[in-house]
Amino acid sequence: MSCDLLTLATPGVATLEPYQPGKPVEELQRELGLKDIVKLASNENPLGPGERAMEVLRRPKEIARYPDGNGFKLKARLAKYHGMSADRITLGNGSNEILELITRAIIQPHHEVVFSDHAFAVYPLVTQAVGAKPVVVQAKDWAHDSEAMAAAVTANTRLMFVANPNNPTGTWLKCNELTRLLETVPDHVIVVVDEAYFDYAVLPDYPDCSTWLDIYPNLLVTRTFSKAYGLAALRIGYSLSHPEIADLLNRVRQPFNVNAVALAAAEVSIDDRKHIKKSIQANQDGMNLLTSAFDEMGLPYLPSAGNFVCVDLQRPGREIFNQLLRKGVIVRPVDNYGMPNHIRVTIGIEHENKKFIAALKKVLAS
Ligand SMILES: *Cc1c(COP(=O)(O)O)cnc(C)c1O
Repeated sequence: MSCDLLTLATPGVATLEPYQPGKPVEELQRELGLKDIVKLASNENPLGPGERAMEVLRRPKEIARYPDGNGFKLKARLAKYHGMSADRITLGNGSNEILELITRAIIQPHHEVVFSDHAFAVYPLVTQAVGAKPVVVQAKDWAHDSEAMAAAVTANTRLMFVANPNNPTGTWLKCNELTRLLETVPDHVIVVVDEAYFDYAVLPDYPDCSTWLDIYPNLLVTRTFSKAYGLAALRIGYSLSHPEIADLLNRVRQPFNVNAVALAAAEVSIDDRKHIKKSIQANQDGMNLLTSAFDEMGLPYLPSAGNFVCVDLQRPGREIFNQLLRKGVIVRPVDNYGMPNHIRVTIGIEHENKKFIAALKKVLAS
């Protein structure tokens, strides 16, 4: 009987596989009875939120009241930070919501949505949910092939997702590659540049395309408070775009899509540059520790601009993932991203990184 209810799904939803989140620590504790568990599976900031955000979070909020549905104060703060008018900013329940809003606002079933192979899982998800055609462009050395992506655009294309850097690969498009792509793509295609890891991506050739909105009106840049800002549980992100794109997003979002606690914490976090600096340093130290260990173990890995790294174990990653679980280390298998021999590990704090390396050595030796 209940099976019949599944036939009610729209064609896109009928074949949709839900997003697989990283395993929660409590679940593993329950399952294996382990006490000491490290979670390096969802690219959160291992340092947590900054002190300013913590202060705000300790103060009571007006929980009985609806939040400011327009996020006036946070948008004003962000507008100042980015040096642009507030009508270019849209707040989302995580930046994932923005990815969904733009898709719902402009995509019809006969439209095509372009993204790369091995790209962030939410792109195919939102595309399929509206019944549109995903156009998956073959990757080059696991990274986005910007020229092939531009070439994949047709008269039916309305949307392109570019993860910069990409999750799970950590690869990124350089400034000249991204400008060439934006120059090539016609104006009827909205190009979403997903900059979830922007603050971690401190590389000389890494582009800050939030400053290009005047040149490319079809550009939509997404940022999040979930990663370097350490507020993943609060669910808050935002986009920067032409005011008319912001207008479209505003039409389809829920009236109170961002909660009051998230708004308050994000407001003080954006100016807490000390915490971001500290987080970047911790990330670079951890990245060096992990990649040196991989070098020593003879394991190839992808260069990463994020707070995570994909390592090639040269054998099925899911098996190693399961064995690491039993040693109290949660990483991310990426076979569902077409990467069966890799695992993705989030950079943790020192003792977490060391515990992971020790566990990996043991597992690989057994
Ligand atoms: C983590 C991540 C996001 C952010 O998701 P939120 O909804 O803001 O928590 C977006 N894009 C990519 C590529 C990510 O890895």
